[in-house]
Amino acid sequence: MSAPRHYTSTTDVAHYIHGEVVAGRSGRSQAVYNPTTGAVARQVVLAEVDEVNAAVASAQAAFPAWSAVPPIRRARVLNNFLALLNQHRDTLAAMITAEHGKVFTDAQGEVSRGIDIVEFACGIPQLLKGDYTEQVSTGIDNWTMRQALGVVAGITPFNFPVMVPCWMFPVAIACGNTFVLKPSERDPSASLFMADLLTQAGLPKGVFNVVQGDKLAVDALLTHPDVKALSFVGSTPIAQYIYETGAHHGKRVQALGGAKNHMVVMPDADIDQVVDALIGAAYGSAGERCMAISVAVLVGDIADQVVAKVAERARTLKIKDGMELDAEMGPIVTGVARDRIENYIGIGVEEGATLVVDGRGHKVPGFENGFFTGGTLFDHVTPEMRIYKEEIFGPVLGCVRVKSFAEAVSLINAHEYGNGVACYTRDGNTAREFSRQIQVGMVGINVPIPVPMAWHGFGGWKKSLFGDMHAYGEEGVRFYTRQKSIMQRWPESTAKGAEFVMPTAK
Ligand code: NAD
Repeated sequence: MSAPRHYTSTTDVAHYIHGEVVAGRSGRSQAVYNPTTGAVARQVVLAEVDEVNAAVASAQAAFPAWSAVPPIRRARVLNNFLALLNQHRDTLAAMITAEHGKVFTDAQGEVSRGIDIVEFACGIPQLLKGDYTEQVSTGIDNWTMRQALGVVAGITPFNFPVMVPCWMFPVAIACGNTFVLKPSERDPSASLFMADLLTQAGLPKGVFNVVQGDKLAVDALLTHPDVKALSFVGSTPIAQYIYETGAHHGKRVQALGGAKNHMVVMPDADIDQVVDALIGAAYGSAGERCMAISVAVLVGDIADQVVAKVAERARTLKIKDGMELDAEMGPIVTGVARDRIENYIGIGVEEGATLVVDGRGHKVPGFENGFFTGGTLFDHVTPEMRIYKEEIFGPVLGCVRVKSFAEAVSLINAHEYGNGVACYTRDGNTAREFSRQIQVGMVGINVPIPVPMAWHGFGGWKKSLFGDMHAYGEEGVRFYTRQKSIMQRWPESTAKGAEFVMPTAK
């Protein structure tokens, strides 16, 4: 593979409203860093309420015409977008690496998983088909249809600046809604690039808008009377706030929150596979994934062996500029996030966990000011420790030792998060019982990061999801549409005279 090109623009990241890039008017902006060098790379404008209102007004104006476009023609626009995404996938991946820090090959994977959802959304004519029953009563037929909601908004986190927006807008606009995206202010460039590709694909003005911003912009969307639904992905306290505030303002809300994902290692598991899985799932993307494994639950006497092998690999991770193609781990998104992670490592030591590998203070030659930290490994972590209970969101893996399968299951079921989980075993019945008993939304059997494919839908349980419907897949289609039931008869089959009793099948 040839070396990819770095993304180096120094232009301010602006809004995208009514089919055009719109410079910010608020006078407020925020630095976007290059996490590899630690330098400020560009600024992102932060919207004021007026700018949010302009984006919602554009989306509201575009809604009647867009929702009336036949689904197959909406799908054709998405097909054009799909082709453009495929053409520019490496540009998008380089943008992700430039602002997030994850390694380029991982960013390519993120773009691919986003593209999967666009492919799914291209099947919207089939997905929007309703139900029909002939003759529910003599001369009467009944059918259902699903219709778009109106203007819907998406608020997304920093850790997947392409994939998570793609969990939302392709499905939403395929269903006939118009969309306002408020991306993370830490890595905002990819959203603008996708907006431009959508316009090139033939999407009418106003169907997809981007407002850059912070809490002020989010609150303006949360309370705007024309925003009918909100999809949120981010940390749990904000997810809960979005869910409660959005519901209070009469909106449909799905709010996906944080996580603490466990991987159970049974004594019969293949240890080399387990070590590969733990290394990739704990340290890939520097642990900044909502599906990262942050706790290994080691059952029985395999614990010493697993800890020793993971430690050896954690010490020799290839941590470097993510644009180098052999990089395994890049920097953390910001210096503040890096310091927060390293602070948690100090807390773990104070709490009495055994620090087997200490990633703090890791320096990469040539990038001494970059936001790097190394891979960290704790052993003898216990359930009352903060490093067990709280989401660290960095390359820190904690090992908890338990005696039995039952102990592993009750440990995980008692945790307040329930996003993802994995179990490594060769025993079919253990796998089956694990899938049945575990109170977590997404389960991997010998699969460390079980992110469901585009047509299955993504969502955790407990404090990892506020709302009823998962992102994308058929639940996504349900979230972005509402059902209407139509019952119809014609004058020839209508009996004479008023009826005063509850109608029943005749
Ligand atoms: P975050 O909660 O800080 O920010 C998410 C979004 O909310 C951003 O767009 C941000 O601008 C906005 N926001 C931040 N503070 C706000 C406030 N006080 N009021 C209103 N809006 C606010 O999350 P993050 O740090 O960008 O992302 C990491 C978090 O996201 C982790 O907790 C991770 O587990 C979670 N996440 C969850 C999933 C999932 O599917 N469950 C997926 C990816 C990330």
